[in-house]
Amino acid sequence: MNSSGPRIRPEIEALPTYKAGKKADATPGVTAYKLSSNENPDSPLPSVLDAIALAATQVNRYPDPFATQLTDALAKKFDVVPADIGTGTGSVGVLQQIVQAVAGVDDEVMYAWRSFEAYPIVTKIAGATCVEVPLNSRGEHDLEEMAKAITDKTRVIFICTPNNPTGPIVRQTDVDVFLKKVPTDVLVVIDEAYIEFNRDNEAVNGLATYRMHSNVGVLRTFSKAYGLAGLRVGYFVGPENVAEAVRKTAVPFGVSSIAQAAAVASLEADTELFAKVDELVRRREWLERELRALGFDIETSQANFVWLPLAEKTDEVAAICFAHALAVRPFSGEGLRVSIGEQEALERFLTLVAPFAR
Ligand SMILES: *Cc1c(COP(=O)(O)O)cnc(C)c1O
Repeated sequence: MNSSGPRIRPEIEALPTYKAGKKADATPGVTAYKLSSNENPDSPLPSVLDAIALAATQVNRYPDPFATQLTDALAKKFDVVPADIGTGTGSVGVLQQIVQAVAGVDDEVMYAWRSFEAYPIVTKIAGATCVEVPLNSRGEHDLEEMAKAITDKTRVIFICTPNNPTGPIVRQTDVDVFLKKVPTDVLVVIDEAYIEFNRDNEAVNGLATYRMHSNVGVLRTFSKAYGLAGLRVGYFVGPENVAEAVRKTAVPFGVSSIAQAAAVASLEADTELFAKVDELVRRREWLERELRALGFDIETSQANFVWLPLAEKTDEVAAICFAHALAVRPFSGEGLRVSIGEQEALERFLTLVAPFAR
């Protein structure tokens, strides 16, 4: 019991403090690299920086609370009605808005595990119950087991594809079978934070699936492929009543005017940005080939990171990386996630992990 101050809700007190991807220790003469948060290694494009600079001149004004320009641009890009879109402070913000909107005390929020670390956090903040269904041995969602875990308390199911931190996609055919088993009053959210990096055409198409079902929505972000992690902007495309609820549960004026302007400018620069995404995908495929050549048994990732299932060696390898100014993301006892960053960083990573291959 905490007897030394105002009372905090017990489920909040029990929450772990969020651990952001760490920066590596600075070593004299060695460039430090951060491969721990799945960020885009490139600075924003000049056209996006111009939009940011222009928006900065007007920050004495509140932002548009409805992000109208951004919403309209997204609606046009995806050929959906603006009423089906909700924005938020990063897709983590949107995630929280969704859970607040559909799940309260005694309700259940389901997702695969291990998956994105924000799922349990936003669930507990809402006072709802986490239902975690283990991934299979290849780090993939087990949709059969997830369907079996549905109860009359289930309110929302998150499907993360490609899955963070393991990397595989969820197949369209599996989602189609799964959705037949999900009651239509249960929301299914397909979290496509890394979808721009996917090159597997068997992967579920979130927007197409949303168009075919009344209980499916898609979560997207400008933080990864679009390289705007520092500005916090993400969005939901889904059933109109859910999108409306997502707009109601948003922090008022949460998405800043600078973030809105940068997101709109980024959508206009799609072609240039996707050429950079292609380069990151080539780098990922190269890294996977090199890791396999060393003898690592890894699954194919469709995101901007690769998962190394190092089990009990995880912390040791992560410590070696940190000691060589390379920040990576260890999950103790399970594995290590390395983001596709600068080529030199990945080459250093390969050298450091080589002794740990089978
Ligand atoms: C990074 C990530 C997000 C989004 O992060 P934001 O910066 O809040 O938009 C959402 N889902 C998954 C699975 C992620 O890895």
